[in-house]
Amino acid sequence: MKLKTFTGGLHPPDNKQWSSHKAIEDCPLPEQLLIPLSQHIGLPADPCVKPGDRVKKGQPVGLAKGFVSVPVHASTSGEVLAVEPRPHPSGRDLPAVVLAPDGADEWVDGITAARCEDLSPDQMRERIRAAGVVGMGGATFPAHVKLSPPAEKPIDTLILNGVECEPYLTADHRLMLEEPQRILAGIAVMQKVLGVSRVFIGIEANKPDAIAILQKLCAGTGIEVVPLAVKFPQGAEKQLIKAITGREVPSGGLPMDVGLVVQNVGTAAAIDDAVTHGRPLIERICTVTGPGVAEPKNLRVRIGTPLAHLVAHCGGLAGDPAKIIMGGPMMGMAQLSLAVPATRGTSGLLLFRENELSLCPEGPCIRCGRCVRVCPAQLLPTTIAAYARLERIGEAEEYGAMDCIECGCCTYTCPAAIPLVQSIRSGKAAILAKRRKG
Ligand code: SF4
Ligand code: SF4
Repeated sequence: MKLKTFTGGLHPPDNKQWSSHKAIEDCPLPEQLLIPLSQHIGLPADPCVKPGDRVKKGQPVGLAKGFVSVPVHASTSGEVLAVEPRPHPSGRDLPAVVLAPDGADEWVDGITAARCEDLSPDQMRERIRAAGVVGMGGATFPAHVKLSPPAEKPIDTLILNGVECEPYLTADHRLMLEEPQRILAGIAVMQKVLGVSRVFIGIEANKPDAIAILQKLCAGTGIEVVPLAVKFPQGAEKQLIKAITGREVPSGGLPMDVGLVVQNVGTAAAIDDAVTHGRPLIERICTVTGPGVAEPKNLRVRIGTPLAHLVAHCGGLAGDPAKIIMGGPMMGMAQLSLAVPATRGTSGLLLFRENELSLCPEGPCIRCGRCVRVCPAQLLPTTIAAYARLERIGEAEEYGAMDCIECGCCTYTCPAAIPLVQSIRSGKAAILAKRRKG
């Protein structure tokens, strides 16, 4: 059978065998949680606790500022030690609530279960917002915003993203295998919120066990499980939409412009927790893996757990880490230290030692065209990167820099080791800065 896919992309070694067979384990609580107030796209939350306060699990410690923002919650019960800047995955020190767990792990009062059929779409959106649910694939866009399309953009299709095309990561795979009912319950909520009956679950064909389980559970529901070609970045939103429906999201547009909402399977599970059980987003599944960690695992991690604690629960370091990446190796963020905490967007933690990194010096472009062939956005990466480096921002924009999804395929494939995506990313930041100035 010919599997659906998109144009461009590539096949990096997936290295999922390190952890794909490992059942999800609960990571014990650390001595201190560092809960960042900025864990989502949009304005950071405003702290609503102070040092010395005692809080319970699920209690808000930061309140949303505006519509495109979400509250942040205590991941366990304990005492607030500080509200101050601490290391953040962005590389800066940003405001965080430092919490000392008391060991009781006691839920806050007022967590109430509800039945989907008793709630209106607006009530469900509010429960999702209040629970702080964001895109769990790493994008961290507030879920209630995605589920509030304007009336002039009717939605007819919901796509669940179970692709997990980043090498090494297996958190979504394990979730689909071990807790598929949470995903299906989340889908039912979103169907009611959006008023859609057409639903697809896209999964790369390298997870046949997850495909089989979901196909069995979805039989007779009208939900179609779609096996997809194994190719990076199959899970990128625009590429997933094109592969499954053939629809093209226009340049600068959103999935809702073509009648679609896409949510990660982990987000669907968090939506079920929020709406059905009234539970805020205080934990997630994270793959800790790579040759630099003694025993790769899939962990259920409380938000705010320092990365060093995750590594310790995986048997510790296997040698000196030369590179630490939060997320996948293609689109993840390099980290300066293991003092950084896991956030709602931390799908993975990868550790590499010096000898596993290919550190080729950059050479001149040999015009081989490989970067153009693999670009899933059909851009000219070498041209855009060159303009961005020369700070010729107008030309970089003209050549479609803002359509770059920062997948890193161009950099990965370039025989001259030119940091194309890094230059394009800087160019995009300069374009946005120019737009803000007007
Ligand atoms: S230009 Fe952007 S979208 Fe195209 S391959 Fe490079 S990083 Fe990916
Ligand atoms: S892949 Fe590298 S060397 Fe080849 S055309 Fe692109 S930038 Fe030049």
